[in-house]
Amino acid sequence: MKKEQLYSGKAKTIYKTDDPKKLVVEFRDSLTAFDGKKKSEAARKGYYNAQISRKIFEMLEKEGIKTHYIDMVSDTEMLVDAVEIVLIEVIPRNIAAGSITRKYPIKEGTVFKKPVVVLDYKSDEYSDPMLNEDIAVAMGVATYEEIAQIRSMALKINDILVKYLDSKGFLLPDFKLEFGRKDGEIVLADEISCDTCRLWDKSTGQSMDKDIFRFDKGDLSKAYEEVARRIVPEIFK
Ligand code: UDP
Repeated sequence: MKKEQLYSGKAKTIYKTDDPKKLVVEFRDSLTAFDGKKKSEAARKGYYNAQISRKIFEMLEKEGIKTHYIDMVSDTEMLVDAVEIVLIEVIPRNIAAGSITRKYPIKEGTVFKKPVVVLDYKSDEYSDPMLNEDIAVAMGVATYEEIAQIRSMALKINDILVKYLDSKGFLLPDFKLEFGRKDGEIVLADEISCDTCRLWDKSTGQSMDKDIFRFDKGDLSKAYEEVARRIVPEIFK
């Protein structure tokens, strides 16, 4: 069913399948940060991220969010709908961390009264600059209607995820979403994993996400395993 490679990104590889409307996404152990300038590998990272993403997509589908997720084809490979990716990285922020604390006078740890949704242009060449609606529409990456729908889906996903992760003992300062077009409809695509979320342990405040790699804060595989133990306990039985 899985056929030739279509594209290999920094942490995932995409394969064609017999069905042109479906693709296989393989989650790899490779890690990059700072626009690909820092590179490494972490044992079982692909496995944990694939399983965490699967569980979150299944949970969001139950809550009425349409996603590209169809099924798992192996421990690290996901069957998804082939969508046309909207070139906008959508970042809901609940607690200030990362780039927003470097670019604006906002201190790390500031709790936002209402979620802040940041839109970045998904482009390695331009280093993901921040967008507003007019720029996105002028570049032709999306229509005003699509952007409104993406914002509203992102806020709904944020509400669901904050509650879900709180019940697992995590704070969710921020995370990155990507959306795609499928038969004229906007659906959630890409992944939701330790690579794309900031996850802080509720009791210790420790990072349990890619910041461990970005800032050499410890053993990434161990932290991702702990996240997997809380979100997908079934894979450890
Ligand atoms: N993020 C991501 N991919 C990117 C950029 C950011 O998954 O290309 C995630 C990142 O892990 C964090 C959130 O989006 O959870 C916000 O990232 P930020 O803009 O603060 O950038 P950073 O500080 O990570 O450089």
